[in-house]
Amino acid sequence: MSDRPVLRRCVACRQLLDRRQLWRVIRDHQDGVRLDEGMGRSAYLCREENCLEEATRRKRLQKALRCQVPETVLAVLKQRLNQSVGESAEAD
Ligand SMILES: [Zn+2]
Repeated sequence: MSDRPVLRRCVACRQLLDRRQLWRVIRDHQDGVRLDEGMGRSAYLCREENCLEEATRRKRLQKALRCQVPETVLAVLKQRLNQSVGESAEAD
């Protein structure tokens, strides 16, 4: 049963999805709010503009994590969104 998808709920649209399809935002015990990995309370978000906007506007991540979420974290997600949309991925 190890390949059974682990379902998590998006904080914006409330859909249950395979967590591999979602962004994970973690309130890490040591490092504050982080993306993708860390130890602590987690919030999940669809990799979609609508959900990112909704979460930002209604402070859904803040509520889920019960702490402030730095602008930089939201900016990184927005950037990822733009990168996944554009076909021309630039190598860095
Ligand atoms: Zn969503």
